[in-house]
This record gives sequence, structure tokens and C-alpha cells, in this order.
Amino acid sequence: MKVESVRGMRDILPEEAGLWQKLENEIRSVFSLYGYREIRLPLLELAELFSRTVGEATDIVHKEMYVFPDKKGQMLALRPEATASVVRAYIEHGLYAKGDLAKLYYIGPMFRYEKPQRGRQRQFHQYGVEALGSLDPALDAEVIDLAWHLMERVGLSREGLFLRLNSIGCREDRPLYREALRSYFSGQKEKLCLDCQRRLEENPLRILDCKEPQCQGAITGAPKSLDYLCEKCREHFEELLSILRDLGLSYELDPRLVRGIDYYTRTVFELCSRELGAQDALLGGGRYDDLVELLGGPPTPGVGFAGGMERLVLVLSQNRPVDAEAPDLDVYLVPIGEEGRRKALEILASLRRLGIATDLDYMGRSLRKVMSVAARRARYALLLGPDELSQGKVNLKDLRSGTSSTLPLPEFLARPRDFLS
Ligand code: AMP
Repeated sequence: MKVESVRGMRDILPEEAGLWQKLENEIRSVFSLYGYREIRLPLLELAELFSRTVGEATDIVHKEMYVFPDKKGQMLALRPEATASVVRAYIEHGLYAKGDLAKLYYIGPMFRYEKPQRGRQRQFHQYGVEALGSLDPALDAEVIDLAWHLMERVGLSREGLFLRLNSIGCREDRPLYREALRSYFSGQKEKLCLDCQRRLEENPLRILDCKEPQCQGAITGAPKSLDYLCEKCREHFEELLSILRDLGLSYELDPRLVRGIDYYTRTVFELCSRELGAQDALLGGGRYDDLVELLGGPPTPGVGFAGGMERLVLVLSQNRPVDAEAPDLDVYLVPIGEEGRRKALEILASLRRLGIATDLDYMGRSLRKVMSVAARRARYALLLGPDELSQGKVNLKDLRSGTSSTLPLPEFLARPRDFLS
């Protein structure tokens, strides 16, 4: 057996995990500012949950989903996205019963069997919000504002970002638009890839997602969903645009944006980076006003977005070089001689209980080596030499300035923070 990870699945090593933790904290804190609360969902769901909602004709379900039978033959899927799971949980636990808007967020791994490339993996991580219970276009605007705000908060500039926006109408508009697409693409069938020829029968909207170069010519001239909106959907979209303008959030109307998933209705959007190349979408989302009902819940509109952690890490680390590793410990204990080591084990346990991040050498290294590890890992070294210890004292060395001072050990242990800046 080769000892290696599965293709498309990466380890995030401690050097990188620091940035991930920082981002996750920022994400949680911005989501909380807007009143969203966390929901934690299983990674496995019934495969049918996704085929019914994301859609049979989508790439996600048709080509990319990890599906397998469990020991009883029940077909399960590793979740390729989380909106369907959020809605499943919303219905299963009767969250609608409170009659309130449910504002939920999640962060976690998703799985899609895609061709791995820069910014595209088979296990990737998404953070996302879902607001269930209101049709108000102000809520679409809030979700979009949240997306902009979050990207700025983690350190991206507005100038480096742009918002693609479209409306694909409601279920009443859909048959009309689908027929317009079907009749248009039927005339160009020989120019389409084999997948798109299948999509033409199953769901011609999905042709607009196709990335094959040979299909792009036909897609460019396709009918636009904005021309097929009913009065209500048009008003909803106009109102959203007007709120976005009031909030000073810029957008680009993109008639080709349909977002690769069947459950979307009305608003769809992507917030993209000018610095990412082909996979430029940092996050994407939209409305899904029929999804709760489709899964057997009461008619309940919803809107949300999901963003990719890997892409965020990618733009952030290409913008600024990753900081030289900062010390992760407050104190490194440096015992000298056997007696020092016994004392060090006691001090180690006490300092940790006082909330001071502390470690020592377990590798039997020389004093010189231990000091160089200490300099890399910690702000201070606490030297326990036999002479000082016999007088109940220790030597605290500031590893940044190089200065050191001798202190009574009981005093240091009583209030260590007073001695550590
Ligand atoms: P989607 O669920 O397809 O709307 O994707 C939402 C966001 O998740 C995208 O904008 C990306 O940032 C991210 N994403 C989707 N698929 C992948 C993938 N295979 N690898 C890395 N990030 C992804």
C-alpha cells in the first residue's frame, strides 16, 4: 500500500492551519454580526436528497457525487454542498414552526469528484449562510452585503472583487425560458458537446453552465433569463438592484450566470476575485424559493450563499507572503541537569493550568539545540539551572530582546503574566 492521500484531498499542515483558524474565526464573527447561528450537519446524507434538489442533470449529481451503498444497500452520498442538508434539517426539526426567519450558517468539508486543479479539489471546505422564511429583496441584499463585508474583513480590497448578478425567475417563468433555450439550442445541436446534447433533453438551462470550448459560441447567443421574468420577479430584481445601489455595492449583470444547481429561483450571484484566473468565484449563492416545499416542508422561500475556503486561502496567500512562523508558545522551559528536569515537569503542569502555553524538550537535545528550538517556538525561555534552583530562583529570558532576569520561582508561579508581556 502506498502511504499517500487520495487524489484531490489535501492535508492542511499546522503551518497553514493557523491561517485557516484565523479565517474561520473572522467568518463566524461576521456571520454573528448579521444574526446567523451555526448549524452542524452530517457529512453523509441519503443520495436522493441531492438528486432531487441539486438536480439529476447537473454535473454535481450526474458526474461528481461520491455515492455508495451502506451495508443495508441504502444509497448514501458524501455531501457535495450543504444547502440541501440545511433545508432537510429545517424541515426535519420543524424550525419553521416558530414562524420566524431562520438564519443559519455552516462551515465544513464538501466532496465532489472533479478534476483537481488550482482552486478545485475533491474534498474542499465551504462556509455559507441560509436565511429561510422571507421573500423580501432586502434579504437578498443583506446576504450580498454580508458576502462583500466578509471579503473585506478578511483583507481583500473592493477593487479586486466584482459581483456577477442575474435573476432566473420563478417556477412559473421557468417553462417558458426552458422552451426558449431548447428551441434555440436545438438549432445549434451539432455544435454542442455530447453532454450538452443530453442536457438539451433533460434540462437545457444546464447547457449555460458548460465549460467546453466548443459550446461557448452557441451559449453566447442564447436567450437571456431576464427577458423571461414575470412582473413580480422583475419587480423583485429591480428592488434588489436599487437597494444594492443605495448600499454602494457594485454589480455586473451577467445573463449567462445560472449557477449549476436546479433549486435556484430568482436571484443568483457570484462574488469573484480578479486575481484567481479560471476558478475566480470566491463564493456563490442565490434564492431557492421552492426548495423547502420540494422536500416536503411548508412553502418557505430562502436565500443564501456558499464560499470556498481554499480559494480564500489562495488569494490571501498570493496577496501577502505567509508570515514567518510566529512563536506559538509563551514559555519554553529549559532545565539544566537532572534536578532541573524534575522541577521543570512540575512547573510545566502548573503553568499550563494557569493558561500559559508552555513546552519543553522531550528529545534529549543539547542545551544549544534546546535554546534554538526555544527561540523559534516561544517568546520566553525559563532556565532552570542547579545554582538558581537551590536558592528557589529561575532565570527568565526574553527571546526577542535577549535580556534576562532572575526571579523567585514562587513569585513567578503566583503571577506569571506579570512577568510575561
Ligand atoms: P457551489 O456550491 O458550486 O455554488 O460553489 C460555491 C463556492 O464553493 C465556489 O464559489 C468555490 O469558491 C467553492 N468550490 C466549489 N467547488 C469547489 C471545489 N471543487 N474545490 C474548491 N472550491 C470549490
